[in-house]
Amino acid sequence: MTTEQDLNKAGSKAVATVETPAAVETAAAPKSVAAAVSQAKEILEHSVTEHTHAELKKADATVSDSTIALIVEKAVSASMNSIVPVLERLVAPTPLEAEQMETLAKQRERFAREKKIMMQQEGENRKNLAAKQANCSHLDANSKEAIALSRNFPDRQARGICMRCNLTITPKEYRCPLPPVTMEQALKYIQHVERSEGIFGVTPYEDPKTCRIEDGKPVHGTGLVTHFLYPEHRLYHRVRELLSREQQALAS
Ligand SMILES: [Zn+2]
Repeated sequence: MTTEQDLNKAGSKAVATVETPAAVETAAAPKSVAAAVSQAKEILEHSVTEHTHAELKKADATVSDSTIALIVEKAVSASMNSIVPVLERLVAPTPLEAEQMETLAKQRERFAREKKIMMQQEGENRKNLAAKQANCSHLDANSKEAIALSRNFPDRQARGICMRCNLTITPKEYRCPLPPVTMEQALKYIQHVERSEGIFGVTPYEDPKTCRIEDGKPVHGTGLVTHFLYPEHRLYHRVRELLSREQQALAS
């Protein structure tokens, strides 16, 4: 900024200061504006000349690089020392922010607690349902079949659903893992199904296009498993029986 600009700024500042209501009330307001401007001009002129003298003195003296480095370092550390407390004050949360943070932390804790309880309940529900299905005869109070037929499936094969325990009796069917899994993951999954659901004979199918090619041929076991072939449910014969009964009823 040039000296002229500085002076104008100083002048306008002085005017701005004087224009406060308290100052306007006094009768000598215009006089003090002029006085303030001239004073500001004097101060600036004085500081500018001093500054110029200092510059000239510096230019005359030969200053080594290390001295400059030392001066810069000192200046930087001094300014940082004054800035750091201000920054700390700015970074420190206000009482409102602290309260909000506390509320958020409490909410997070509550969600975690509720999720844990929910997971426990879900696990218990699964166990209870499995026990109910295992002990269900799938017959109603009159010892008649409680299994209903459902045909609303894209493979056009009928499924049976027990009205008492919600067990789904599935035919031999394909089930697709999403996303496709490696053969290693597929074998682990089959073991899990055998242990937890008692279903044996699930066959994994891998996409030969995803297999590693050696000597122009895909290597079995290196590709991605895109679908499993599940055997039919051990009670599917009851679904078949229901289907034949239905056909007989239609024929007669
Ligand atoms: Zn049942």
